[in-house]
Amino acid sequence: MMPDKGRFAPSPSGRMHLGNAFSFLLSWLDARSAGAGLVLRMEDLDPDRTGPPWTGLLVEDLRWLGLDWDEGYGVGGPLGPYCQRERTALYEAAFRRLQAQEDIYPCWCSRHQRLAASAPHPGEVRDLGRCPCRKLSHAERERRTLVKAPAWKAAVSHQLIAFQDLLQGPQSFDLSRDCGDFVVRRADGVYGYQLAVTVDDALMGVTRVVRGRDLLDSAARQLWLMERLGYAAPVYAHVPLLLAGDGRRLAKRERDLDFGELRARRTPEEVLGLLAALAGLLERPEPVKAAELSFSWDRVVREDCIVDADQPSESRPLRIGEGQTDPQHPSKHIQTSTPSCSSAEGTI
Ligand SMILES: [Zn+2]
Repeated sequence: MMPDKGRFAPSPSGRMHLGNAFSFLLSWLDARSAGAGLVLRMEDLDPDRTGPPWTGLLVEDLRWLGLDWDEGYGVGGPLGPYCQRERTALYEAAFRRLQAQEDIYPCWCSRHQRLAASAPHPGEVRDLGRCPCRKLSHAERERRTLVKAPAWKAAVSHQLIAFQDLLQGPQSFDLSRDCGDFVVRRADGVYGYQLAVTVDDALMGVTRVVRGRDLLDSAARQLWLMERLGYAAPVYAHVPLLLAGDGRRLAKRERDLDFGELRARRTPEEVLGLLAALAGLLERPEPVKAAELSFSWDRVVREDCIVDADQPSESRPLRIGEGQTDPQHPSKHIQTSTPSCSSAEGTI
């Protein structure tokens, strides 16, 4: 049997932030408590937004926190390269298989047309992103290709994708209704996030995926791609998001919560203590090493947590509020009380 393996998969588009450190800590705890290995992969597909110096800084910040990995970027290993932009040939091979199986189709719609196609009309069953290109004849496709290179999209149906999330419980998505036909390769030839992650997780032997709750419906798309490509599915745990005081997701504008600032003012143990308290693993933030934390998924909070960074003073209290859900996920409770989260008052 394949040994268990988890992963860190940051996108190096800025300094590490309290929000992604939260996911990485839970990923590390999950892997280590399951006796699994860990791989670090850089999701640097977008050549305009990702790359140095962020790649190197991410590695430094993870090491500063004391979160180690066994394979991947900065360490090496047999299943590299570990940067997505060096793995194009592998995505190309998967893309050719999907093409041969007619699981994908060429699309010439503009971004504007794609957005218009996905807007639901009142009283209509929502069907995301199925465009007229899907019905074009072979001859018409050839004619258009001579004029303009197409994007390629997955041709999904009303297939139900169900899986058991380690934290969020049973999940079920109607692919056509909830996800729609999604881009697997852009018109400029850059491979889409969903295809790259699917290929990487499979070929790197990843069996445990821990990441933010905003990627729950990506799991449905990736499970479909894995099925089409004959890959084994990993188990998933989608963890809460850290939100700013206004209820929006912590963003890079909260400069005082990025690791440039945090490392100047706090010890790694203090930052880990805060993250563990947010997760529900400690009653209040107190300095701790990752290896000292006792972990199981039934102790981790499910609802998003508010980190209030509005007060700019040096030693201000950092208030941790109640769970709230972002507007993209209206199906969940808007204001839920999460005692282990709201009791975690502390300073950072
Ligand atoms: Zn189209």
